Amino acid sequence: MIGTSDRLHLAIQKSGRLSDSSRALLRESGLRIQHGKNDLTARVDNFPIDLMLVRDDDIPTFVRDGVCEFGIVGRNVLEEFALGEAEPAYEVIAELGFGTCALRVAAPEGKAYDSPASLAGERIATSYPRLLKRFLEENGVEATVIEMSGAVELAPRLHIASYICDLVSTGATLEANGLHVVDTVLESEALLVRTLKPLTPEKEEAAEMLLMRIRGVLATQDSKYIMMNAPEEALATIGEILPGVEAPTVIPLAGRPGHFAVHAVCQESVFWETLQKLKAAGASAILVLPIEKMMM
Ligand code: ATP
Ligand code: ZN
Repeated sequence: MIGTSDRLHLAIQKSGRLSDSSRALLRESGLRIQHGKNDLTARVDNFPIDLMLVRDDDIPTFVRDGVCEFGIVGRNVLEEFALGEAEPAYEVIAELGFGTCALRVAAPEGKAYDSPASLAGERIATSYPRLLKRFLEENGVEATVIEMSGAVELAPRLHIASYICDLVSTGATLEANGLHVVDTVLESEALLVRTLKPLTPEKEEAAEMLLMRIRGVLATQDSKYIMMNAPEEALATIGEILPGVEAPTVIPLAGRPGHFAVHAVCQESVFWETLQKLKAAGASAILVLPIEKMMM
């Protein structure tokens, strides 16, 4: 039995490529995850939420049915599921920036490929038949889709198919099997999804609070706090150089007329090149600090 009816349920992958990052995101959002005797659920003792630890393939179904109000799952799994549904089954709340990979078409060395038209009449092995069929249809190509539940990269060697369509992150597994990427069907990353089933007011309130925290964590991941001193005439140029800043805070420096401290939250990475440009524009004593928490 999962918790009482006023607690939210969030489904995450129990063990696999998404588990550590999913847990880390929740921990950074301030959730204290308890590890009980039960391996299917984990209670959060400082927030009205229980985690369901499941296979990633089951997450879309749980979220569709409202068994879990939220889930963290790869776009690949989610879209493959959604293509088999008659109606929308969930809402995507946030792109989480981890679990990045892509569903790609690969061919054995020496097999020519110019465009999707090269796939016409060929046999393509995949664990993502719906996404592959959509790709073929969008490109007006007729080919035979061979569905396999795993070890898709072996299909060409076993003469089951001439091409494969599989998830790739670095391409090392493909190379080891004498295959190379020829096209991309879908770029993927982990997503936070929410059920379309209505929530009780209590759950809705907890959901808002959770989302605000998760958004805060995501916002701090790429953001930096930047501070510097600058003469008045440099302020306009500095404003243009600062990446992802809407309105920096400008404070007069005590005892140095015409000089200001500039503070800003940069919503993008701050590179050494940016610091060099700021210095060339007249800034000095430039500091870049990580941001621990943020609530917009
Ligand atoms: P489960 O036991 O939960 O069904 P699984 O074997 O289907 O696990 P994993 O290999 O752990 O799944 O991958 C989970 C998700 O991680 C994928 O669906 C995908 O979104 C993402 N991912 C990131 N990089 C890769 C990769 N190189 N290969 C496969 N999946 C990846
Ligand atoms: Zn899976």
